[in-house]
Amino acid sequence: MKVMVAGAGPAGLMLAAELALAGVEVTVVDRLPRRSPFCRGFTLNARSLELLDRRGIAGRFLAEGPVVPYGMFADPSRPLDLTAMDTDHPYTLGIAQTRVEELLEQWLAEVGVTVSWGHEVTDLAQDGDGVEVTVRAGGRHHRQRVGYLAGCDGSRSVVRKLAGIGFPGTAATTFGLLADVEPVDPTDLPFGMTDGEHGTVFVIPRPGYVRIVLDEPAPPADRDEPVRPAYFQQVLNEVLGRTVELRDPRWLTRFSDSARQADRYVAGRVVLAGDAAHIHPPAGAVGVNVALADAVNLGWKLAATVLGHAPDSLLDSYHRERHEVGARVLRTTRAQAILGRRLPELDPVRELFGELAGLPQVGTYLAELATGVSTRYDPKIPGEHPWLGRLAPNLKLAMGERRTSVAELLRPARPVFLRFGDRVLPTGADGANGAVDSYHVRCPEHPELEELLLRPDGHTAWISTTTDPQPAGTLAAARATWFGVPAHFSHGTAEQTDSGPTVT
Ligand SMILES: Cc1cc2nc3c(=O)[nH]c(=O)nc-3n(C[C@H](O)[C@H](O)[C@H](O)COP(=O)(O)OP(=O)(O)OC[C@H]3O[C@@H](n4cnc5c(N)ncnc54)[C@H](O)[C@@H]3O)c2cc1C
Repeated sequence: MKVMVAGAGPAGLMLAAELALAGVEVTVVDRLPRRSPFCRGFTLNARSLELLDRRGIAGRFLAEGPVVPYGMFADPSRPLDLTAMDTDHPYTLGIAQTRVEELLEQWLAEVGVTVSWGHEVTDLAQDGDGVEVTVRAGGRHHRQRVGYLAGCDGSRSVVRKLAGIGFPGTAATTFGLLADVEPVDPTDLPFGMTDGEHGTVFVIPRPGYVRIVLDEPAPPADRDEPVRPAYFQQVLNEVLGRTVELRDPRWLTRFSDSARQADRYVAGRVVLAGDAAHIHPPAGAVGVNVALADAVNLGWKLAATVLGHAPDSLLDSYHRERHEVGARVLRTTRAQAILGRRLPELDPVRELFGELAGLPQVGTYLAELATGVSTRYDPKIPGEHPWLGRLAPNLKLAMGERRTSVAELLRPARPVFLRFGDRVLPTGADGANGAVDSYHVRCPEHPELEELLLRPDGHTAWISTTTDPQPAGTLAAARATWFGVPAHFSHGTAEQTDSGPTVT
């Protein structure tokens, strides 16, 4: 059964790679003739780097740009200290979104999938067995039948609309303009945030040009009207209260603070990820990162469903887990957008918030919230251990003579079961229903660990230690919840040594 992914942005590329890694036949279509040269985002955060680490490709991204040990929450003049976050990557990576997409597309090609550019999804009809998708390419329409259709087609998602999925939320109240241009005299525009007479202007240096982001106090009635260079120049001068000359505009666009979320991420055989599932104010610069995290949560669940070994309602857990995270992202980015408004009546709130954010504990809480590092999916198996439901730490492990890590064992994007101890026993994977790779390992840093069951996205499904209270459920129940019940899984038998996992 084939999956079609509509949209080759960060969400679609990551999802397609996850599906391909799991052995699913996947096709990726994008309506553009080629990747857009216009770059929206410029950052990857700690959580994205953690996820890319667990596929063995974080190094490719880290080689591209500088890392800075701070992030932004509401007020650019008070950067958030990221160094105390509980992560291997306590920083923000500066990398153009276009480069992120190129690297993801390269990786996708390595796992055997190429993007069909110039292919636009225009219609769909789903029944109990699949989806009939109409695609326009080269001026002609053709129909293709697939098992599932993933709408990763951005904020104006056609897939979302055609599937009849609601997109409730808050309408835009403020608007901004963005231009990638050259100022005639660079000293005219100081870098960073400037308060003008009628709003704020944010100037970010880029190689060979500057990005100018400014308030648009009076947007036209038709918000979809293209932003012309003369109009941008006029608004810039009005906001600043003086004249700044610009030249060579490369990209001009408008954005708003509207915040909406799909009411269903899964509708029969149609699933949504990334901006197709949620839009929010650009404050905090998290869209690419949330899109990647959606895709990694969805990939293994959709793969197991397509391949026929998913336990009941596994795909629904994608909606449950990521809708909750999406709602938090909307709340957090809206809060930042509101705090960022230069209204004098907000000054006391801003000042108080700034004082609070300066407290180390609060600062770290905000940093982990904004970067998604503290994401904890509601675990189905009740338990108190702080790792349960969270991305497990990238533990350094020994397997006989071999040195490895949690991230390395997760590279094939399969479930991983670790039994800790000094004995060297056979390792294996029980594959009757969706293989679980089992390893017998040592972890000197955490002598208390007994057993750890990880989902392919790296989140902890089960943990037992010598020091914490035993979880209320059983390991077998956790396995059944996430991976189905293998025909002959018996607790404690399927293991192997340093030669890699086997399937039992
Ligand atoms: C000004 C601005 C600055 C931003 N800065 C940042 C930042 O610094 N950091 C950050 O993390 N995020 C940032 N974002 C957000 C980020 O750009 C988005 O959240 C991110 O691109 C979402 O990825 P996606 O894959 O869901 O969608 P998109 O990147 O929008 O990709 C959707 C793809 O679907 C294709 N498509 C659309 N319709 C169809 C169709 N019918 N058939 C086939 N294909 C179709 C499109 O051509 C496109 O390639 C910014 C956004 C804006 C507007």
